[in-house]
Amino acid sequence: MSVFSVRDVSFSYGSKKALDRVSITLQPGRFCALLGPNGAGKSTLFNLLTGLFVPDEGSIEIAGADLSRAPRKALARLGVVFQQPTLDLDLSVRWNLSYFAALQGLSGSLANERIERALTRLSMAERADEKVRSLNGGHRRRMEIARALIHEPDVLLLDEPTVGLDAASRQSITDYVHELTDEGLTVFWATHLVDEILPGDDVVVLHGGRVLAHEQADKLAGEGTLLDAFMRLTGLSAESRSLEALT
Ligand code: ADP
Repeated sequence: MSVFSVRDVSFSYGSKKALDRVSITLQPGRFCALLGPNGAGKSTLFNLLTGLFVPDEGSIEIAGADLSRAPRKALARLGVVFQQPTLDLDLSVRWNLSYFAALQGLSGSLANERIERALTRLSMAERADEKVRSLNGGHRRRMEIARALIHEPDVLLLDEPTVGLDAASRQSITDYVHELTDEGLTVFWATHLVDEILPGDDVVVLHGGRVLAHEQADKLAGEGTLLDAFMRLTGLSAESRSLEALT
């Protein structure tokens, strides 16, 4: 059974079509990268998946629940890390997590247990009582990931989660999120950076609001590199040169 499926979804901003009959099915426990240049439609798709926008056409199902017919059930199975940080900088790490746990309906010893587990897993237990403001960008992102996992979702969505991080933090976050799939979590990771994708990951190439490919990264790359395959599919040489510069 798929944990997540998008079927024939289209969405327009006025006369501008941002997504055109997009279909994507994710299998449990897989890391799937949503790879596309700026303007491809990645953020629009995330806004649809999180229920902020409603598709003009098509349907979305998360862990067997239809997002438009049973939104609470569907969204309860989803963890989300948005591109823009949404932490309260003047609250401690633990308070930020407790607050979110309460919003998810978790309280008391269950919430505390989940928070402690999340902090330990992210090697942040000793910093739990510090204000978020004192953390660097990498640690803040780790915290947001921990927070998105507190209610133990089936699927974790991350919208370009390494934007603005230094190279070491970027690598550490990318590695950490890949490891989460070993525990059965399904990950959907939007990026325009091919070096965040491992050979065994699945890749959806999105360009101009359309899915151009959905395949395992090494198969998509074939004899060449993933960047070659991406350039071939999208025909974007200038864009891909800038991608290369970032890898
Ligand atoms: P990405 O996240 O891949 O950079 P977006 O989903 O932000 O892509 O954008 C997809 C397309 O929709 C782009 O052509 C963008 O210019 C357009 N778009 C995004 N937001 C709006 C908006 N609020 N109004 C009009 N057009 C928009």
